[in-house]
Amino acid sequence: MKRLLVMGFVAVFIIASTIVLQAQAPQGQPGERRGGGQRDGGAQRGGGGQREGGAQRGGDARGGAQRGGAPQQAPMAIKMVKPGLYMVTNGGGNSTVRVTDQGVILVDTKNLGDQFYNELMGQIKTVTNQPIKYVFVTHVHQDHAGNIGKFVQAGAQVITNDGLKRNLETGGADGKGYTSAAGKPAPPNVTYTKNKKIKLGNARAEAYHFGRAHTGGDTVVYFPDVKVVSLGDEFVAAQPNADYPMGGSLLEWSKVLTQVLKLDFDTAIPGHGNDPLTKADVMAFQKKIDTIGKKAVELAKKGTPKDQIRAQIQSQTGDLGTWQMTGVINDQRLDAFYDEISKAK
Ligand SMILES: [Zn+2]
Repeated sequence: MKRLLVMGFVAVFIIASTIVLQAQAPQGQPGERRGGGQRDGGAQRGGGGQREGGAQRGGDARGGAQRGGAPQQAPMAIKMVKPGLYMVTNGGGNSTVRVTDQGVILVDTKNLGDQFYNELMGQIKTVTNQPIKYVFVTHVHQDHAGNIGKFVQAGAQVITNDGLKRNLETGGADGKGYTSAAGKPAPPNVTYTKNKKIKLGNARAEAYHFGRAHTGGDTVVYFPDVKVVSLGDEFVAAQPNADYPMGGSLLEWSKVLTQVLKLDFDTAIPGHGNDPLTKADVMAFQKKIDTIGKKAVELAKKGTPKDQIRAQIQSQTGDLGTWQMTGVINDQRLDAFYDEISKAK
């Protein structure tokens, strides 16, 4: 009898462990996981992770969110960056909240799903009761674009670069448009090509698309009156990743950040990472991307084969810090990257 009890207990334990493991597995990746469609997500994750996908999920930046583990994600948190401007961490990429007496301007919408939307709205309500009037979305990945549809339904103007809309419709290696494990983000109700400037109450916000970088539909949002810029995944606390199937480009990225650095700001909100950073941090990040690009082109010219290119860049570029080239360019994006650097002048 005692033996039976023990066996029963062991069986229950094994079953329970299995259930827990299963629950955890999928969850790891909420972020872009696949969203990137795979590409992003997949890639990243696979790769080294990287930020977006990988990172996010796994580890990096967003790690926070997902890392939490299993069924429970790290809860969102809102923190003041400047008077009237806040950032909300976790639950996907960082969101920026600009509060005015006429309403709120929001940047990025968190992971796709009602619980993320509701949690984000709950965080915003701790600092203002004003309605969300404008939403800018920095790029197509679901951990930033996930809840476009909810904000459109709620009556906001949701503004993106027209490249984001194209990514949704025709992006990806198969040309079928971005999707993710969590689903496909809804399209925005306002798009722009080069820039879009708005005024709300005493605040201004300026959206810019400076070119291809993390994706082909990136937006950076500049708040000139408080000297803050929200950079989405063009700038992250951990390492970057270039989503080539969604139009991203490592070589163009450094030029885009050069344009960003011309803006008069002192504080940058990264797409992932728990704290606001400085203009000097953006400069250092730009320099690393530029160094990688130049080294890559040089190595390609010398005939370095595709399967060695990332390792060669990694070993021959002294100042990469914690960045791993297998995450910056994950396996799924390697062909496009190699093609780009091989054709570069
Ligand atoms: Zn992203």
